[in-house]
Amino acid sequence: YGDSSQKIDYVFKVVLIGDSAVGKSQILARFARDEFSLDSKATIGMEFQTRTLSIQRKSVKAQIWDSAGQERVFTMKTSTSVTSAYYRGAVEAMLIYDITKRETFDYIPRWLQELRGQTDKNIVIILLGNKNDLEDERAVSTEDAKEIAEQEGLFFLETSALQSTNVEDAL
Ligand code: GDP
Ligand code: MG
Repeated sequence: YGDSSQKIDYVFKVVLIGDSAVGKSQILARFARDEFSLDSKATIGMEFQTRTLSIQRKSVKAQIWDSAGQERVFTMKTSTSVTSAYYRGAVEAMLIYDITKRETFDYIPRWLQELRGQTDKNIVIILLGNKNDLEDERAVSTEDAKEIAEQEGLFFLETSALQSTNVEDAL
């Protein structure tokens, strides 16, 4: 993972968004430290972690931002300074839902509306259906997610922060 003496060619800001408890912080823990915890603490405020990747012989530092428990409050107060600071300069957004909680998927259009209102039109958006280790509790089919991803022009993957499935690929 990180080597601080390394020369950095690019810094890319990535934001994680989605309802509370979908697994944003655990996905971040996997990216940044290859860790996972089942008793994840609610995130306070905003924080970011970095991970340096080598892409086409350039070293790219991904600065990945994670946000607090009252995420939905953002939507009701778009254009507050906190919201715009969170999104400012982001080149990629990971929009995450929980495949076992239908309402976290049904809220995706609202998240997209906020995201598109706050970011550059060239932002890359990847939809992640997290917790796909919980197949028995699935409430959102892969087909439904693919359909919205296609309609909205999003990349799409199902992930498991717990089992580390597709987390690397998403980044
Ligand atoms: P956040 O509010 O979106 O940051 O969600 P957290 O990352 O804090 O995760 C909420 C809860 O879901 C925690 O208990 C995590 O351990 C659990 N969790 C996160 N990702 C996964 C996953 O891929 N599979 C399973 N089974 N649980 C997960
Ligand atoms: Mg969190």
